[in-house]
Amino acid sequence: MRIVLLGAPGSGKGTQAQQLQSDYGWPQISTGDLLRKAVAAGTELGLEAKAVMDAGNLVADDVVLGIIKDRLSNHDAKTGFVLDGFPRNRTQAQDLETVLSDLVKQLDAAVLMDVSFDILMKRLTGRRTCSKTGKLLNVYFSSQEELDECTDAGGELLMRVDDNEATIRNRLQVYDQATAPLIDHYRAGGLLRTVQADGTRAEVYSRLLTVLGVVSQ
Ligand code: AMP
Repeated sequence: MRIVLLGAPGSGKGTQAQQLQSDYGWPQISTGDLLRKAVAAGTELGLEAKAVMDAGNLVADDVVLGIIKDRLSNHDAKTGFVLDGFPRNRTQAQDLETVLSDLVKQLDAAVLMDVSFDILMKRLTGRRTCSKTGKLLNVYFSSQEELDECTDAGGELLMRVDDNEATIRNRLQVYDQATAPLIDHYRAGGLLRTVQADGTRAEVYSRLLTVLGVVSQ
């Protein structure tokens, strides 16, 4: 399947996309992850994107389009993919339609991950990555055992640079202004599905499979 996951930062797009990838083999394509890799590698593109990302603003559309075009032409994206964090505005949604029509492909669904503001703030301010295992954790929602597993293994619980309160506020505002209008765009195209994304990872995943109409693996 070819799926777009829509939703505010912290709505759980990355977590759910990873689960779909592991169960169905549709690669998770996260423009945020691809940009962070470019920043870590110190490429020209990464250097350009870093300040914009640290402030929680959107990286230029043509830069992101280049990344997406490149990634979608990979062999593993031939039979399906889960877009996580792209498109983020109307221009990018149109760009995606052009790229897919050039590949003679179509989206199957755009899934809105709907979460209340309070939960979003806790997910974002509490989000940590284990430096040892790479596992995504949350100081509010992960069990003490899971958190200890990381530190006992000699890992540190790292926070993303853009998960501080000022940047989070801006990212949520950017979402409301630039990305939320895509909900109507996909509704008009008959592709929109909505998932109530409060709750545990497993609960949300089961609702996601239901709206996608796929059987659980
Ligand atoms: P994410 O990991 O999806 O929250 O993205 C982290 C940051 O990367 C965002 O706040 C933006 O600065 C940048 N970014 C990710 N995806 C896009 C996109 N599709 N368009 C523009 N900027 C993006």
